[in-house]
Amino acid sequence: MTNDIFDEIDPPQRLLMGPGPVNAHPRVLRAMSAQLLGQFDPEFTAYMNETMALYRRVFETENRWTFLIDGTSRAGIEAALISVLEPGDNIVIPNFGRFGLLLTEIAQRCGAVVTTVDAEWGTVVALEAIEEAVARVKPRLVACVHGDTSTTMAQPLEGIGEICRRYDALFYVDATATLGGMSLPVDKLGIDIVTAGLQKCLGGPSGSAPITISDRAAERIFSRRHVEKGIAPAGLVGGNAPRIASNYFDLAMIMDYWSEKRLNHHTEATTMLYGARECARIVLQEGLEARYTRHALASRAMVAGLEAMGLTLFGDISNKMSNVTGIEIPVGIDGEHVRARMRLDFEIEIGSSFGPLQGRIWRIGAMGYNCRKHNVLITLNALECVLRGEGFKLPSGSAADAALAVYAASETSA
Ligand SMILES: *Cc1c(COP(=O)(O)O)cnc(C)c1O
Repeated sequence: MTNDIFDEIDPPQRLLMGPGPVNAHPRVLRAMSAQLLGQFDPEFTAYMNETMALYRRVFETENRWTFLIDGTSRAGIEAALISVLEPGDNIVIPNFGRFGLLLTEIAQRCGAVVTTVDAEWGTVVALEAIEEAVARVKPRLVACVHGDTSTTMAQPLEGIGEICRRYDALFYVDATATLGGMSLPVDKLGIDIVTAGLQKCLGGPSGSAPITISDRAAERIFSRRHVEKGIAPAGLVGGNAPRIASNYFDLAMIMDYWSEKRLNHHTEATTMLYGARECARIVLQEGLEARYTRHALASRAMVAGLEAMGLTLFGDISNKMSNVTGIEIPVGIDGEHVRARMRLDFEIEIGSSFGPLQGRIWRIGAMGYNCRKHNVLITLNALECVLRGEGFKLPSGSAADAALAVYAASETSA
């Protein structure tokens, strides 16, 4: 593996079966090789509008404000929190993994007063506990991760939107790991702001963060609009509203850029927009329901295969994300050595985890373009082979057989 700095990029053909990123759909890569346009070119602004329309359908929302933040998923998270929260605001965060901690950290940087509702890693937060905290704290915002890839748990979102409305709080969800893979009907769930990224179930590269914003959240965001020379624009209460601390992530400015006003803010990341637009087209052409079913089926097949090997799954399986599966690393097995053999012998990447779960679990994803039968079977077979080589006793061939049986059963029942 000696590279010369003048060599052309020629990465290995690796199968990315970790918790993200995953391999991009070839159509997305093709779209991203198209020529650039100026950001105010009518052809390009038409692509921007089409991208907004496509993502409204992906998010299952009527929200006018549905667009892209340039940057990785956390750019979306940061834009949402910094544009809504001002110093001293209360926020309630259901916290059940690493990305709940990220929401906490960003909210603290905004100067917000954070109340977390904690669940042990591997479980989710009870709705009653969220309601109790919201009733007590009366927050401006409730911020919740949908699928926390660090623990592979998906927080049930039903009921939270209703609680937020009852207590006049806005409701934000980080759906980076689930959008396009698990059902997320934004309007039906009463979520005010959702952000995501392309590199999980949407099957694109990281670097663009789709976002959708309700009118009620937009009102809050515009009320904090940057005010020139202390004069509030007509119709806005922004006269003495505190300016937000970021220019790049000032949603009011970004929304002015994505509106008919086309007020210059940043230069829209042309290539990422091409990619994001293609991701949405692929998702919608397959159909949201078909897509969720495909991910759920792969999850059942993966679970059957792993259990057939005698492995123990991590956490409360009834609340597992359908696109990622956590596996306890068996006693006496070196988890990092197994990951290295998967990569070196089979060109397959699987994940480990963070914090309290570091060295304790592997995480195997099957999402987006990679969430397909043969990838599930190949990954299970490879893991079985590697584990056997590490001295783990298991019945040969049982993993892929068990997964195949799940697929066969779904075909006969269909
Ligand atoms: C993967 C993931 C992210 C990643 O953020 P990036 O900035 O794209 O690295 C954020 N939130 C959740 C829930 C994730 O699973």
